[in-house]
Amino acid sequence: MDNPEVLKQIYLDANATTPVLSSAAAAAMETMETMFGNPSSSHTSGLQAKQIMDQARCKAIQVLGAGTGQVIFTSGATEGIQTGILSALYAAKAKMKAGQSYSILYGATEHKAVPESLKHWNRILEVNATIKAIPVDVQGKLDMEYIANEVPDALMICTMAVNNETGVYQDLSLLEQTIRTHNSDVYWMVDCVQALGKTHLGLADTTIDYAPFSGHKLYGPKGIGFVYIREGAPFTPFIAGGGQESGLRSGTENLPGLAALNVIFDELLGQGSDVFSSTKVLSELRAQLSTALKTAFPTVVFNHNFDNSVPTTLNFSIPGFTSKEIMDLFDAANMRVSSGSACSSKVTRSFVLDAMGLEPWRSESAIRMSFGPAVTQQQITEACDRIQHCAHALGHSCLVSMDGVTNEREELDGLLQLKVGGSCCWVYADKQSGKAVVIDPLVEVQERLLTILECQKLSLVAAIDTHGHADHTSGRVGLVQAHLSEQACDPLGWPIQCDRIEINKNVFSFIELGEHCLVKVSTPGHTADSISLLLCDKSQLLKEKFVPEFTFCGDLILMGSVGRTNFSTSDAAAMYCSLRNLAKITNKQGVLCPSHDYHNEFVTTFDAEMNRNTLLEQAIEGRISSANFIKAKTSLDLHIDDEQGAEIMCGAFVESCQKVQVSEYDSVALTEHIEQHSDATLIDIREPHEYALNHDQYFSKNVPLTRLANFIAQQHNNMDQELILVCRSGSRSHIAANALARLGFKHVGHLKGGYALSH
Ligand code: PLP
Repeated sequence: MDNPEVLKQIYLDANATTPVLSSAAAAAMETMETMFGNPSSSHTSGLQAKQIMDQARCKAIQVLGAGTGQVIFTSGATEGIQTGILSALYAAKAKMKAGQSYSILYGATEHKAVPESLKHWNRILEVNATIKAIPVDVQGKLDMEYIANEVPDALMICTMAVNNETGVYQDLSLLEQTIRTHNSDVYWMVDCVQALGKTHLGLADTTIDYAPFSGHKLYGPKGIGFVYIREGAPFTPFIAGGGQESGLRSGTENLPGLAALNVIFDELLGQGSDVFSSTKVLSELRAQLSTALKTAFPTVVFNHNFDNSVPTTLNFSIPGFTSKEIMDLFDAANMRVSSGSACSSKVTRSFVLDAMGLEPWRSESAIRMSFGPAVTQQQITEACDRIQHCAHALGHSCLVSMDGVTNEREELDGLLQLKVGGSCCWVYADKQSGKAVVIDPLVEVQERLLTILECQKLSLVAAIDTHGHADHTSGRVGLVQAHLSEQACDPLGWPIQCDRIEINKNVFSFIELGEHCLVKVSTPGHTADSISLLLCDKSQLLKEKFVPEFTFCGDLILMGSVGRTNFSTSDAAAMYCSLRNLAKITNKQGVLCPSHDYHNEFVTTFDAEMNRNTLLEQAIEGRISSANFIKAKTSLDLHIDDEQGAEIMCGAFVESCQKVQVSEYDSVALTEHIEQHSDATLIDIREPHEYALNHDQYFSKNVPLTRLANFIAQQHNNMDQELILVCRSGSRSHIAANALARLGFKHVGHLKGGYALSH
């Protein structure tokens, strides 16, 4: 279903960078072709080139209201930031008095370029001041009281005019008053990158010492920027050399960039072709987008107050969806937005929203939509339509309930894997009977589970934990309240009233799901209450050995490890027996579904684990005694927390990653390959809502990552087939290809760079 409507990109990530205005690009091109002289040359070509540079400086001074201040051209804002910080700290150092303690202040929501550069120069110049973040309130406004208290000891203070993630602007005159009342000499840098073209700048009327700017944030090309330096503010060149820019910044000037800036400056000065809209018009466009978001996603929350932010940025969160999910969704609709900045933690979150003290989920779900002043009504109208399409597509995936959409929904039949960090939750739906079970429900996906059950019209038979989890609370409560309030069950959620069957003198209890059944097997070890659940065809109940389609083994067996046995209710000897027993009563090819997947391997099998986990293999094959298993386990578990950091890991990894062979194709190689191997199955592994919005005609099969476990179970007798996977960027397809190859699929490949690089 190629949808031509969504093929054209709508770019709403202007705060990251903007396209180059075509008139600016033309000016740059013309300069490259006809005015390529070096501005330092004294011949005619040089003089012509110099004129472009002089014009740019003159216009920049007007645009910034720089008065007698200087404007120096740089490679971008990051260089401008270095220039300001180096100049200020070098001068400050000369004034420092022995025995006195000094600080450097910066706003907590500042772009990373500022605190990182402060740390760098503080160390390099041996200033050794204490660097302090100025807190912000819930609206992102700087804490003036903190500044008033701290600024007397400060050598430098760095603030930003407009925040890049939220568009929140600071009251610069109040800030100035606060700073100067308490320290008239402190050097003050204001990062104005996101303010250019969006707020009035009259820099000469302020006591701001340094103000960096970047051309590519306002329709200029990358690689050109400028920095304002107040008259009289100290200056140390950041780049020395041939003496260009009056010796303040050496290096041959970026003339094409300057020519492009001239065009941008003309627009800002009202001397261009009026492509920039007024603040009033931009505010109306923002209102249209926010209305569209509220209509499409009624629970949306905006993470900033529109009253104190520029009209070109919207930052919002949709409850129940991570930033990554919404980015993938919008990207499938060919709409570019951005999430919070990725940091060292596994979850993408926004340090800006964290600093504002917003609830963690809002930071983890944050999406930024930003546009520039040259945006058109047509683009915003199209964006509003696509937002509605996106919500509709989520309805198709049963991730939001929408009246009238449920008939077009992607029907769930079999196993669904929902992951939160390293934890897994499983939903098994038997389409024929309309019955479902949820195993190891996670609180974070509780709402999603309820929506899926409702949208898929499934009746929940049980919600079961494979053990009492130490690392998270169970999400069973909400499910039980909504669906199972009448049912009596044990502490893990297993129904008290269930059928029982005796096989080989062992009695197993089971629950029915149409033609399937879920059999409970006690597998203590990780905890005393640990169970495994075997999902089998009902006919299996009459056999000697189970051949389960899926075994939900909790933390008994994890990918690359077995569950830890150093909790108070753990028992390594019991685990030894549980492993042997589970292997004995089931076949070894069935899919094992653990309650954790720390390394994106999705599921496993006894065969695959025994292949790489000697301890497990020895235990199951009886080549290690219980006593030696306990010894080995104890030493493995000893350093679990030290190895893996803050997250409670439920198993010690004997081997975290296994090298497997997957083929990587670029789009040309893939086309050639498909022509020669017409029997290859091409699979789009994005979620059904992304697939519904847009996919390549070659990739006519959709196996979402959340359904990969189901696909593996269906195809495990067909390991010789050729599978080629695709996703948006090549990252998910690579992960899935590795997982399939590890489980024994012999010919797996993926499209490197995904759809993004294939057009
Ligand atoms: N400051 C702010 C507020 C920004 O948004 C950016 C870019 O994202 C920068 C500084 C750094 O700009 P550049 O990467 O162009 O040097």
